Order: sequence, then C-alpha cells, then structure tokens
Amino acid sequence: MMSKFFDSKYKSLTPYTPGEQPQDMKYTKLNTNESPFLVSEKSRQYVLEEIEKLQLYPDPDCKVLTQKIADYYGVDAQNVLLTNGSDEILNFAFMAFCENGAAFPDITYGFYSVFALLNGVNYTEFPLNDDFTVNLDDYINTDKTVFLANPNAPTGIALSLSQIESILVAKPERLVVIDEAYVDFGADSAVNLTKKYDNLLVFHTFSKSRSLAGGRLGYGIGNKELIRDLNTIKYSTNPYNINRLSAAAGLGMLEDDKYVRDNCKKIIDNRKYTEQKLAELGFTFTNSLANFIFAKHPQISGKEIYLELKKRGVLVRHFDKERLTEYNRITIGTKEQMDILLEALKQILEEKI
Ligand SMILES: *Cc1c(COP(=O)(O)O)cnc(C)c1O
Repeated sequence: MMSKFFDSKYKSLTPYTPGEQPQDMKYTKLNTNESPFLVSEKSRQYVLEEIEKLQLYPDPDCKVLTQKIADYYGVDAQNVLLTNGSDEILNFAFMAFCENGAAFPDITYGFYSVFALLNGVNYTEFPLNDDFTVNLDDYINTDKTVFLANPNAPTGIALSLSQIESILVAKPERLVVIDEAYVDFGADSAVNLTKKYDNLLVFHTFSKSRSLAGGRLGYGIGNKELIRDLNTIKYSTNPYNINRLSAAAGLGMLEDDKYVRDNCKKIIDNRKYTEQKLAELGFTFTNSLANFIFAKHPQISGKEIYLELKKRGVLVRHFDKERLTEYNRITIGTKEQMDILLEALKQILEEKI
C-alpha cells in the first residue's frame, strides 16, 4: 500500500527486482553475476588508508580515479564520469538524453524500463529475434535514444563493433548508449568508437569483472559535451556520489589489472567447462560472452530447475517473463562452485526424468 502522500506520477511505477540475497542458509550463489574473487591486495591497502580520511567529504570530481580510468582507455579525464554503480549513470542518461524517447530490446537489463518510467520517458521495446539476437534494423531506424547492453543480459549474446557502428552512422543526431557491464568476458568494447562518434556513450561497471559489486562503482566514457551534461545532472542530485572507500578500492583494482585480467580468464575458462558439462546433461544455451550462461533443458521447466537447485543450496536466476521461463541464468563462479552446480543438476535430472 502506498501512502496518501505518494506523488501520483509514481503510482504505476514497478521498481526493479534485484536478485534474491537470502540469509537463511549458505548458498552457492550463482544468481547475481558477482565475481567469486576477492578484491585485490592494493584495494585492501588503499581502503585501509582511506579510513583515516572518512571524516572528510570525498572529492566531488573524483579526480584521481577519473584520471586513472582516462589513462587506462587512452582518453581525457573530461571524457569520463564516475558514478555510484553503473545504474546511476544509466538513470542520469535517461534523465538527460531522452526527450525524444528511448528504445531498447524487450529482453534486456530490467532497469531500462524502470528508469524510463521513473523519468517519464516514452519508450519502445523492440522484440528480440526468436534466437534472442537483436534485430539491427530496429535500432538503425529509430529516432529514439538507443540503449543496448552488449553483451546483452540475460542472454550473453553480443553485437560486433561493426554492427554498433552501423547504428551510430545511420543517425548522427541520435544518441546510442552501450552498456558494457559484461564486456571484459570476451566481447569487443566500443570505448574506442567514442573517439570517432560524438553520439556514443559507453559505460562500464566495477561490479562484475572487478570484484566490487558491494562498492557501487561505474563509469561512462563519451565526448566532453555528453560528460558535461551528465555532470550537470550529477551536481544537481548528488555531488558526492562516489564515497571515499569505493574510490580507494576502485583505484586498487585498476592498479592490480593483471589480477583482474587473470580472473576474467578463469571465468571464461569456467564458462567453457560448464557449457561442455551442461551440454552432456542435455541442456542448450545461448552463445554467451558474459560471466553467465543462459540455459534450458528440454525435459524440465526452468522454474522447476530453479526451485530444485535452491532446495539443494544452489541459487540461480529465474525470470518469470514469458519468453524466458524455460531458462535459468547461471553466473559463472569458481570451478568448485560450478562442480557443485553440475552435481546438483545431475541429481535433479536423475530424480525427475
Ligand atoms: C549489473 C549490470 C549493471 C549495473 O551494474 P552496477 O552494479 O550498478 O554497476 C548494468 N547493466 C547490466 C546489463 C548489468 O548486468
């Protein structure tokens, strides 16, 4: 029940549903695409040092980390905006750049429609093809601001850079926002295209490949005018959006880049391993370039697999949405975690078939 004070413009708002975080027992948690790896040594050290300064506000420009990210990608600091998770820059983009509406797939990250509704943005959901690929022409032809997760969630399917470029060149007056939350697990990043196209905004998160889901750190890269506009929104909502501890942890993860690269490689190897084992058990799945597999079994429903796994202490993500109910999205963790999942699946199949 909403209170009598709730603004009527929010009455139809259905908030985003985060993946469950149950506390009743210890689960093998493969439901929210977090990293199974701990933060790096440098991150720990920088966080501990930063505690000595917690009585002071953080730098609202987040200069040190912003410059570090700029150097990492070979762009200027004015091309980068740090945000409180990439969810925040996504919200800013819906606030700032969607006067003509927004367009995104019917199956994608659930927050896109939530932020559109929150900000009163008129939006179109283009249906994915039957094989869950994007129908490129939809995005080439729309005048609305395009939002594409690449790789997409929860399918893991990625567009190539030339496909993204074809959307960019089709309408230079129309902005394209590419959400690269999962790009470090095998897809090609469009960051370099931001140097060539002023109608492109790319954003990344520290939550998936950089082990900082709990730190809430994301960033956007785009031309200076776009970043200035986003800063106008940021300084009109929360100038101190990046807290000291998260900025310190983020700096450590960037400096320990080899550790991050090695972890991504492990995830990619474990993804291949799990795909092979799932195929042996009769599962089919999309071609995922992300840190998850989107899988279904011909003989047991997605919901039943989800519930049976949960009973056995393994959490995966099930979506009730019509085209997705046969599937589960399984986060790739350590090899040990994947073996626990595979053993549980084997048991379930033996019992149920
Ligand atoms: C996880 C995720 C995000 C948001 O990540 P933050 O934790 O807010 O940085 C954005 N887009 C997609 C597609 C995601 O899966």
